[in-house]
Amino acid sequence: MSHKVSSCEVLVAGGGIIGSACARAAAARGLRVIICEPGPDPTAASAASAGILAPQIESTDESLRALGLRARELYDTLAGSLAETTGIDIGLWRDGVASLAFTEPEAQRLRDAVAHQRQAGLRCDWLEAADVAERFPAAAPCMGALFAPEDGAVDAPALTRALRDDAKRLGARTMATRVNRITTILGRATGVEIPAGKIKAEHVVIAAGAWSPQIDHLPRHLPVEPVRGQMAAAPWPMTMPRTVLYYDHAYVLARGGEALFGSTMEHVGFHGGVTETGIAQIVAAAQRLLPSLPATPTRAWSGLRPLTPDGRPIVGPDPDVRGLWYATGHGRNGVLLAGLTGDIIASLITTGASEIEIASLAPERFSS
Ligand SMILES: Cc1cc2nc3c(=O)[nH]c(=O)nc-3n(C[C@H](O)[C@H](O)[C@H](O)COP(=O)(O)OP(=O)(O)OC[C@H]3O[C@@H](n4cnc5c(N)ncnc54)[C@H](O)[C@@H]3O)c2cc1C
Repeated sequence: MSHKVSSCEVLVAGGGIIGSACARAAAARGLRVIICEPGPDPTAASAASAGILAPQIESTDESLRALGLRARELYDTLAGSLAETTGIDIGLWRDGVASLAFTEPEAQRLRDAVAHQRQAGLRCDWLEAADVAERFPAAAPCMGALFAPEDGAVDAPALTRALRDDAKRLGARTMATRVNRITTILGRATGVEIPAGKIKAEHVVIAAGAWSPQIDHLPRHLPVEPVRGQMAAAPWPMTMPRTVLYYDHAYVLARGGEALFGSTMEHVGFHGGVTETGIAQIVAAAQRLLPSLPATPTRAWSGLRPLTPDGRPIVGPDPDVRGLWYATGHGRNGVLLAGLTGDIIASLITTGASEIEIASLAPERFSS
């Protein structure tokens, strides 16, 4: 029988952006927290991420957009408080994101999306081709654009570091280990098993990204799949103002003196790395948007997004095992949703409720 190596109130399995946000929020509410993180895995999503905060461009699903809008607003205060407590600048930038149309059907789809969002009371503009040329002089000639003036970006690796450092400052401990399985007694979580033994915990939060389903003894199948995203970078032309532009699912953004090109959506299991075809595809899309960008990237990388079948994350309690919580499957929006997910999980653990509507994220929605 394995021996007890430690104990805590909240055990977080996974120390990516989601696990770190949950650990920070729980520690901030005075709970004793341990984060188990073996790596991070070189193919983890958080370090690879573009860090765009674009609920008005990315989300076609109404409930996901509503959460994304809430999550986006949180960054205004989170950026300041993380800078104060950790000294890390998370690079929050909110000057607006545009999605360009190059054909009439694309323009029509985006005009409809603008009308729909305005009807819902959101700030969203249709830019005619001439307006695009004026606002983004380096952009290729196009047929117009959807412009979401409040969308933006953060530096995702910096944000991940800042959340983790702040969690530690608030008392969370990190153990460099994987979680093998959860332990339960009579429908209640009692902790986890790690290779070195057992950790006793009143609450266990599953936040291991694409690896979440590999944790043994979960009471349900988690339909979270790795979806590889390849990224590339080149120097951002000094004279070009900072910009984030989309063309369909592809995008270009400026971060730290570089232009980041993204990204592919590939179902290739747990294979990281980049391919010639993948990089050629994202460079071509980037050049379609901003033709003066260098065609040869200076570096390239990839990460595995944890994606669910409906694109919404799994956030909330397990209905059958008390003290077991899920914060996984954030797909394309995990950076946007990180701060909000942390708050939801910490609030559920401490009060049993969340003032944010999370029925659409329930783990049991895939069970029937
Ligand atoms: C190329 C790319 C671009 C992206 N762009 C954006 C964007 O612009 N905006 C946005 O909002 N989102 C974006 N995303 C999505 C976002 O990055 C992810 O949704 C988010 O990072 C997921 O965070 P996570 O902590 O759940 O997963 P991860 O960062 O993958 O972390 C999971 C962690 O769990 C650990 N782990 C694995 N097994 C175990 C175990 N058994 N026990 C304990 N720990 C374990 C791993 O080592 C890993 O560190 C992008 C993703 C990619 C790949």
